[in-house]
Amino acid sequence: MAAHTTVLDDLDDETAHLIIKCQLEELTQLEREFGAGSEGGKDGEVARRFYEAELKAYRALRGFAEEEAQAPDEGDGVDQQPSPPAAAPDGVPRFECSVCDERNVSDYDYSAPCGHHYCGDCLSDLFATSMRDERFYPPRCCNQHILFESAGIFLRKEVETEFADKKEELDDSRRTYCHVPTCSTYVPQSHKQADVARCPSCQQETCILCHGATHEGDCPPDEAAQSVIDTASQEGWQRCYSCQRMVELTIGCNHITCHCRAQFCYVCGERWRTCRCPQFHEERLLARAEQVADREGGNAAELAEQLRQHHECQRGDHEYERIEGGGDCDECGEYLRVFIWRCENCHTDICSRCRFNL
Ligand SMILES: [Zn+2]
Ligand SMILES: [Zn+2]
Ligand SMILES: [Zn+2]
Ligand SMILES: [Zn+2]
Ligand SMILES: [Zn+2]
Ligand SMILES: [Zn+2]
Ligand SMILES: [Zn+2]
Ligand SMILES: [Zn+2]
Repeated sequence: MAAHTTVLDDLDDETAHLIIKCQLEELTQLEREFGAGSEGGKDGEVARRFYEAELKAYRALRGFAEEEAQAPDEGDGVDQQPSPPAAAPDGVPRFECSVCDERNVSDYDYSAPCGHHYCGDCLSDLFATSMRDERFYPPRCCNQHILFESAGIFLRKEVETEFADKKEELDDSRRTYCHVPTCSTYVPQSHKQADVARCPSCQQETCILCHGATHEGDCPPDEAAQSVIDTASQEGWQRCYSCQRMVELTIGCNHITCHCRAQFCYVCGERWRTCRCPQFHEERLLARAEQVADREGGNAAELAEQLRQHHECQRGDHEYERIEGGGDCDECGEYLRVFIWRCENCHTDICSRCRFNL
């Protein structure tokens, strides 16, 4: 038992309980007032977190109930309930990482706002992925943001540094990069004036409207953008009205939920339920049913009917169950060796990262 809590050993239950409660409230208050990175800086924050974990473990050891509100129930089956930290005999909390299933014992385990636990490695992997794949940015679990301000100290040093450097760029919804192809440096807000962005690296100027070299008068026509639009229409892709991202229909239901959460019709691109297009693309629906039949066995025609009935899953209301033995993730295409989540209604197979962090 560490120094902080041994003094409580001699106290009666009621007094000890009260002291723990007050201490925890005080820590929460400190966190609220000062936030991350102040009042003793990082060391102070780590110390506060460690003390908090210690108090909670001691509280569990003495058999006192928790006072805090429980994490919200998402109604998505028991498997999604975060595992509470169990107190080890020595009073040090042990966390089971929700991602890698390892039992990691460390002072640095991060508990996400949704209640899932992340070991330092898995949290670092998530932050690193979010910098390379924007679908995972900003980092989140169960749709709740994992703020860098609170999670930063749990990251591997190199990930923390890189993320801090890139944060402005990642948060910038109207990014400008230096137009010189060999440079392509991100131009921060501080280097922009009117429609001109001056590269902090090579000092060349870029037009923030057309992303080419600065010029007199109107921007020249954008041939590259036009060719993307042409390819998209040849391939039958649709463009999200909200974020402009290109999406390709794979499952067969014309109701698309974009990564930006916008919902629209795949046929005409209008907001969902504002048009009179058919709900399904028959060929794609049948192709999808055959793909599922190959993977799981079963009758393709019956599966097609089931997919038709459960297309509302596309809003994110899946009923996942854990399937041992691995498989390909329908979302990111990655092969998972150990297990995969499968929706029993729409037969989507998905990896943990795409399920929790997208
Ligand atoms: Zn982990
Ligand atoms: Zn979560
Ligand atoms: Zn440059
Ligand atoms: Zn221009
Ligand atoms: Zn979108
Ligand atoms: Zn439509
Ligand atoms: Zn589903
Ligand atoms: Zn995936």
